[in-house]
Amino acid sequence: MITIGIDIGSVAAKGVIVTNNAQHRAIIPTGWSPRDAGGQLVDILVEKAKISSFDIDNITVTGYGRVALDIADKKFTEISCHARGVAELCPKVRTIVDIGGQDSKVIHIDSKGKVLDFAMNDKCAAGTGKFLQVMATAMSIDVSDLGDFENQAELVPINNMCTVFAESEIIGLMAKGSSKSGIIAGLHQSVAKRTAAMTKRMGIKGEVALTGGVALNKGVQLALIQELGCEVIIPELCQYTGALGAALLGRNVS
Ligand code: ADP
Repeated sequence: MITIGIDIGSVAAKGVIVTNNAQHRAIIPTGWSPRDAGGQLVDILVEKAKISSFDIDNITVTGYGRVALDIADKKFTEISCHARGVAELCPKVRTIVDIGGQDSKVIHIDSKGKVLDFAMNDKCAAGTGKFLQVMATAMSIDVSDLGDFENQAELVPINNMCTVFAESEIIGLMAKGSSKSGIIAGLHQSVAKRTAAMTKRMGIKGEVALTGGVALNKGVQLALIQELGCEVIIPELCQYTGALGAALLGRNVS
């Protein structure tokens, strides 16, 4: 059986193809058309798996852009897909913390990856990947390099939660001569504090996994471990858990 899972996020479109003996993945910017991004991902995955598109049994789509995709045989929420994907990769995890481009969420799951409860921040860019992207741009650093640049020993606390005010704050801090690496440590702490508060409100159950593109940021990983006061697992495919979950859920519905 061959299934494809597509996660059309606000920043990145992710795809995973699952065959009987292999898995391949691809990531591209979502761009202005979620529909085109979905089509492109299918083409890339078909090529990677060396199959024909006629061999695909199911395409399951998730993510904010899923409504626009008419290639989908099935659609699921990101919550269900992250849950299924994480259960596959980290069977002992019962609490998922996902920080994506424009939202963050905490999901409690059971041993089979069924969603028990969740909380979501999708009203404000603070504490999301977008927040870090705006700050990285203000500091002329690529968002993927923030983790390497930070220096916790020089941490400069960031007082403003709001993305717009925080951007002005860091521009002011740089003008006053605060170190970039210390400001970056402060930004990571700010994201972690916000995420940890939501996680603690939900409650920490079992092992905790951090997913989403922001999970790739070593500074956020470290800050979240400090704020939660517990171990946090970063699944190897942390940015692909939604797409993987979609591909796996698609195996059950065909
Ligand atoms: P979405 O599903 O909303 O598109 P993702 O889960 O793909 O979001 O996460 C996108 C965010 O992840 C970006 O806004 C950025 O902050 C962060 N990110 C992406 N790639 C990296 C990387 N290599 N290192 C650190 N952060 C990253």
